Amino acid sequence: MTGFATRAIHAGQDPDPHTGSVIVPIHATSTFAQDGVSGLRGGYEYARTANPTRAALETCLAALEGARHGRAFASGMAAGDVLLRATCRPGDHIVIPDDAYGGTFRLIDKVFRRWGIEHTAVGQANLDAVAAAMRPTTRLVWCETPTNPLLTIADIAALAGIAHQAGARLVVDNTFATPYLQTPLELGADVVLHSTTKYLGGHSDVIGGALITNDAALDEQVAFLQNSAGAVPGPFDAWLTLRGIKTLAVRMERHCDNAERIVAVLQAHPAISSVHYPGLETHPNHEVAAKQMRRFGGMVSCTVRGGAAAALAVCAQTRVFTLAESLGGVESLIEHPARMTHASTAGTQLEVPAELLRLSVGLEDAEDLIDDLLAALG
Ligand SMILES: *Cc1c(COP(=O)(O)O)cnc(C)c1O
Repeated sequence: MTGFATRAIHAGQDPDPHTGSVIVPIHATSTFAQDGVSGLRGGYEYARTANPTRAALETCLAALEGARHGRAFASGMAAGDVLLRATCRPGDHIVIPDDAYGGTFRLIDKVFRRWGIEHTAVGQANLDAVAAAMRPTTRLVWCETPTNPLLTIADIAALAGIAHQAGARLVVDNTFATPYLQTPLELGADVVLHSTTKYLGGHSDVIGGALITNDAALDEQVAFLQNSAGAVPGPFDAWLTLRGIKTLAVRMERHCDNAERIVAVLQAHPAISSVHYPGLETHPNHEVAAKQMRRFGGMVSCTVRGGAAAALAVCAQTRVFTLAESLGGVESLIEHPARMTHASTAGTQLEVPAELLRLSVGLEDAEDLIDDLLAALG
């Protein structure tokens, strides 16, 4: 296997055999001419089932995670929806993180619960709590690491052991780390989920998702549901995602560099009461993070002294950091999880602190980002 950056630029992306086009074309077509009623020219028949631009993206995504199979979806949530339906039946149970991505929690709590799939939310840094939550009906352990927005770390290899002992599968939502920083399948996970909307796309211009696995039977189910339910990305979305992926390795290095600089500034600031970043030696799971991640990513969260009002005031005053949901783009974003991304967890076990801010540290000059935060903190 070639190196990561080489795979990101070339996997699934050979020059077009007909024209020599170095870049994979945007195959904007819904259907493909056939040579006979059962004769397909290039293996394609109808673009919900498969499209060459999407196929290039799927090959590349699999290569990035060191896997055999990749499937692309219209969003990260569409990927999660298909994974839940591929692995669970009414009466089954899943274990999820107690600070899961808000949309994932909503899908599981508000949609799948109505279809008879139960869940238990536990802090996955606590392996005993995960083991205790397993039931005979548990089919899936759903892991996010680092988590959103508190950046806790779960031990992927240990969770795989717990899941497999109970006859369940482990899915890792690898959106925050990206395959550049962490490859869960190599640590024993059964399937990786991505919101490619974030770092993989990397430019805040496209929504997408992916499921990646080495399990041929699971991939077959995923492909069946991808085609049956049809939440596929269009060719332009697949192309934008592929273009973003080409620079993933260099972008992640700079995201990490800038995040480290900002963490140091926040830690020293009197208006900040705590900083959450897995690269800090004081982070409770730093050793696990150092074992399974190459570096620690571009996401940082912190609590502001003075409660929700003080946190909201900081959000209102940054100029380089844009107040917006989402993450993983070239531009820096700031948000207030309790009122924005995680509003749906209010009043539940997954509720986040009102004084918490989340930063998606982008690729601007670190000095400008630091000056902006210092001015907003006053
Ligand atoms: C954004 C996100 C999702 C959902 O992906 P969409 O592309 O918005 O549907 C899932 N998990 C994590 C960790 C995310 O950040």
